[in-house]
Amino acid sequence: MSGAQTGGCLCGALRFEISELMPAAAHCHCSMCRKFHGAGFATIVGVPASQFKWITQTDTLKTYVAANETTRSFCGECGSSLLFASPRAPSDIIEVALGVFDDDVPVLPDAHIFVESGAAWAAPRDGLPAFQAGRNSPLVNANVSSSSLDSE
Ligand SMILES: [Zn+2]
Ligand SMILES: [Zn+2]
Repeated sequence: MSGAQTGGCLCGALRFEISELMPAAAHCHCSMCRKFHGAGFATIVGVPASQFKWITQTDTLKTYVAANETTRSFCGECGSSLLFASPRAPSDIIEVALGVFDDDVPVLPDAHIFVESGAAWAAPRDGLPAFQAGRNSPLVNANVSSSSLDSE
């Protein structure tokens, strides 16, 4: 399949193939993503569940369920952060950490989300829309208005 993308964890025990990525990706600054990824934010892309396929065994795959019932999956051997799922999101979408793909993927993150709970040292400086919480919440960067985005 020409557009197939592969990725996996650091130790290689868990590898996947994806034949179709969704165009929208966001940088999530929430405290759970920060801790799970050990980073200023997590960059996550949606994938139709039917297009996601493990190409290794999944013996080392572990899942952590947070207090708000979101689940994060990782490799129990090397600790790589791989997948995110929320019971409030469509169940036919899998969210995959953009950093675990082998090669560059044809996706450009277009927003920062949950910036209000983010670390000051990782505050967005790239001019992308930065939302207080989810994509439907108010923007924190007043210089980027949704109307100026629409006119481009
Ligand atoms: Zn691993
Ligand atoms: Zn998050």
